[in-house]
Amino acid sequence: MATSKGANTYNRQNWEESEFPLLCQTCLGDNPYVRMMKEKHGKECKTCNRPFTVFRWCPGARMRFKKTEVCQTCSQMKNICQTCLLDLEYGLPVQVRDAALRVQDSLPKSDVNKEFYMQNVEREIENSDGTNPVGAIANKVPSDMLLKLARTSPYYKRNRPHICSFWVKGECKRGEECPYRHDKPTDPDDPLANQNIKDRFYGTNDPVADKLLRRYQDMPKLEPPEDETVTTLYVGGLSEAIEVDDLKNHFYQFGEIRSVNVVQKQQCAFVQFTSRTSAEAAAEKSFNKLILKGQRLSIKWGRSQGQQQSTKKDDEEEMSEHQRGQCRGKFFISIHRERGKGPRVSVHDSSDLCT
Ligand SMILES: [Zn+2]
Ligand SMILES: [Zn+2]
Ligand SMILES: [Zn+2]
Repeated sequence: MATSKGANTYNRQNWEESEFPLLCQTCLGDNPYVRMMKEKHGKECKTCNRPFTVFRWCPGARMRFKKTEVCQTCSQMKNICQTCLLDLEYGLPVQVRDAALRVQDSLPKSDVNKEFYMQNVEREIENSDGTNPVGAIANKVPSDMLLKLARTSPYYKRNRPHICSFWVKGECKRGEECPYRHDKPTDPDDPLANQNIKDRFYGTNDPVADKLLRRYQDMPKLEPPEDETVTTLYVGGLSEAIEVDDLKNHFYQFGEIRSVNVVQKQQCAFVQFTSRTSAEAAAEKSFNKLILKGQRLSIKWGRSQGQQQSTKKDDEEEMSEHQRGQCRGKFFISIHRERGKGPRVSVHDSSDLCT
């Protein structure tokens, strides 16, 4: 469609024509043979209002169709997905990413200045090799906060169909055939229901970002055990791709390592340092933010008495971790589910199980 797009003030030379969309893994979906429909100048970009090439595709079976919402210049300028507007590298809202990298949005809000700014950005994009972000976030080193909040694997649930409005009213007659989701709607007073694409793009007043930033503030700290002789860290959530050397490569920076024991069956490892100072440094610098080969690893102190008397929340966490076949610390946690009763958690010394 090459018809005029309403109040657009740009000349045709500035209209985008692109071959491929810039998408995050989640929006692209898990289907390796995704087919895309492409419409040149199909819509106006939702943030800069210039016509751009719109792509539409289905990201997987029983998922809703997705389409690109902002143009490639806007996407590259912010290093975000053209569809969900989340950061392409960390899967986070612009507001969170920019707060974590301590960058300020320099995009002018007035039309004339914006046009000039966009042209500069486009020139910068043209001169880059396309593998690294341009503009304010170029060459920024990821901060503690960014690593703790980053999403490391795709979240396909986000591609599910929208909720069926007929079903909500009890009137949907399509049953199983209904392409929409038969699910309770989220509370309309929930601030997360009021996200707006421009706020998300500029990284201002984004309720999801506020929620994530609060989550970061509330993140637990890993307290070193009182027993000063403990120099072992537990590393959980290993995948087969992670080898002893990968762990050594990460942990040697904190000090001399006495041993690294990987327990394949339990997908965990014990890293023992020769000194307590190194172990403490390693714990602090790795807790909640160690990502190896795309896998987020959990860090705990090895032999710690305190873990046995953990709070209820911790217990729940331990259960789910155990259900994934992991062990933690020097204790092995087993869960017995009995019909009609809640799970019973018992803690064993794991010396015979985990080493
Ligand atoms: Zn745009
Ligand atoms: Zn996306
Ligand atoms: Zn329905």
